[in-house]
Formats: sequence, C-alpha cells, structure tokens
Amino acid sequence: MPLATPFYLIDEAKLDANLQKVDRLRALSGAKCVMALKAFATWSTFEQIAPHMDGSTSSSLNEVRLGREKFGGETHAYSVAWSDGEIDEAISYADKIIFNSLRQLERFHAKAAHLPIGMRVNPGISHSHFDLADPARPFSRLGEWDLKRIDSAMDRVSGFMIHCNCENDSFPAFSALLDQFEAKLGSYLERLNWISFGGGLHFTGDGYPIDLLAARLKSFAERYQLQVYLEPGDAVVTDTTTLEVTVLDVVENEKSIAIVDSAVEAHMLDLLVYRETATVAPNAGPHRYVVAGKSCLAGDVFGEFDFPERLDVGSRVSLLNAGGYTMVKKNWFNGVAMPSIAIRRRNGQVELMRQFDYADYVASLG
Ligand SMILES: *Cc1c(COP(=O)(O)O)cnc(C)c1O
Repeated sequence: MPLATPFYLIDEAKLDANLQKVDRLRALSGAKCVMALKAFATWSTFEQIAPHMDGSTSSSLNEVRLGREKFGGETHAYSVAWSDGEIDEAISYADKIIFNSLRQLERFHAKAAHLPIGMRVNPGISHSHFDLADPARPFSRLGEWDLKRIDSAMDRVSGFMIHCNCENDSFPAFSALLDQFEAKLGSYLERLNWISFGGGLHFTGDGYPIDLLAARLKSFAERYQLQVYLEPGDAVVTDTTTLEVTVLDVVENEKSIAIVDSAVEAHMLDLLVYRETATVAPNAGPHRYVVAGKSCLAGDVFGEFDFPERLDVGSRVSLLNAGGYTMVKKNWFNGVAMPSIAIRRRNGQVELMRQFDYADYVASLG
C-alpha cells in the first residue's frame, strides 16, 4: 500500500551525492566538517550522514545531546546563552565548547577546563540575503566583536567560531570575506589551534568550485597552523528531500486553487518566515494552480505553479527542498496531521521511518 500523505521523503541517493561533495572537500582541504543539527536533525539519516562528517555541532542542550547520542564523532557544544541549569549537562556531552560572549566564557570556562574552549567572534561582516538571518546585522548579539575584549580572553580559548554566511553560493564572495577576517583578526589567528567558519556555504550546489574552496581553506590552515572546521547544515541536505502531499479539493476564485493535506506554517514554516514560495518540478505545462494548505491561515499558500496534467481530488504534489530548516521547524498549528518521515532507499523502495498521531499532538501540549 502506498504511504499515506503528507510525508517528508528523504532520497538516500541524492543525499549520497551531497555527501560525496562533503568528502571531497574534507579530503582536499584538510578541513573538518561538523553537521549543524539546527538545520536538519532527522536522526534516522545519521547512519548515512555521519561516516562522511567529523561530528556534529549544536545550538542548544537538546541538540548537543542528540549529537552525542545519535551522530557520534566530535560533538561541538554551542549556544547563544547557556543557563546555569544546563551547562553541566551540556559539557558532559561535549568534546569542545564554544561560548557566545565573554561573560558566558568567564562564568563557565572553569567547568570546561578539560575541553578545548572556543569563543564566537563576530567580525562585523557577513554574506546574507536576509537581514533576519544576518549575524552581522546592527546590534547583533551573535559573538564577541570588540577586539579589546577578545584580547582579554585569549589565554582561555584555543579557537574561534565565526559564522557569518547564509546561503552563500559564491566562492569569490566567501574568499573575499576570508581576506577581511585575516586583515581584521590576523594577529589573533596565529595564536589559535582551530577555527570554525560556521555554516552557510552552499558548496554542494551544482557548479560550486569545491577545489578552489578546498585550496583556500588549506592555505589558510597552513598559514596560521590551525585546524579549520566548517559547520554545514543546509548544504548537506539541499535537494534531497520533498514534502509529499495530496490534493483534497480544488476551488475557483479567479484562479484555480488546489488545497492539499498540509499547511505552510506547520510543515514548511521557513517559506513564511523568509517570504518565499515552495518549488515544484518541472513547473511547466498548460494547467496552472495555486497550491494552498488546509489551515485556517488566509495566506496558507505554497505557491502558484504550472502542471502538465489537470489537478483533481487525489492528485499528488511533490514540494521540493523540504530538507534543511523544514523538518526541524514542523509544528502542530491547526492540529493538521503531522507529515510522516520516509526514506527512499537506493533501490527505490520507500521505507517509513516515523509516523505521528493524535497522541503525539496531545503530548506536545499539556
Ligand atoms: C545556522 C548555523 C550553522 C548552519 O548553517 P547552514 O546555513 O545551515 O549551513 C552553522 N553554524 C552556526 C553557528 C549556525 O548558527
């Protein structure tokens, strides 16, 4: 029996293709890649992903624990702010801890004296198309930016984490950013054992010059005699996952509107947050529809697309790019049925990994 929609479908072969690129980058550059669980934490795939990465990184206690328990390798612990109640447990899972501010470093570094300690540094420059996701936006709280304060912490830290790229698919733009880091932080870089350039580099995209990126990272590591890390999240799962939905009704109001068994806010929240639309393939043909969700939100619209065939009750629609920042954000808004999680194996077989039901909905509130 075919799997009931809605479900997220992760394609093992497509994930393989991205992971080959991760491997190539690691081999050519000597950089280590730790998976940013914030972007994608569907742990049934970790068996496939983890052998191609050096470990995981986190943005909370739950993520650092998941990384330790389900991903393996090096477990990096980072959070914008650790609470007194969670710091000991976070350290217990961590192979390395990165503090976001000098104050956090001062308060907690003694507890982590047995670990490499890093500080997040904000060089005040970035590459991001969205102000919302720009770590160097005005008044940013993401990382220490004051060189004097950074100076005062150098005896306690062995590394820096600098994350200031978001969906950067341009190698020249990243290389230019690196030039600026070097100009700004050069004297500090010489005193570090490691540096992480965070995530946000879309090096798994078609045509990205992985060789050039690798060479740039390698020469950087050699110049400053340090270990380079990258923290890819989205890039690992780009174009590997779809949200599979079924048309429940077609209504007319100047346009033909296909209502599907999903909801943007609940199952593809990032589209609303960043004011984008979903994508379908091939998005060509004589039949044009607005594809919309079944929640009560008036603007619950995935997008307007062209289809080769007419859509009717029971038609299937496959919404692309439902990997990064999608499953990690799913929620129970409107009580809409939560998409199951399935994996399309290399042999084409679709395997159901997880289903959610009323009990999960109830358990999510109290
Ligand atoms: C979000 C984030 C990442 C992952 O970014 P992607 O764009 O998914 O590659 C890595 N490191 C830090 C510190 C982050 O905040």
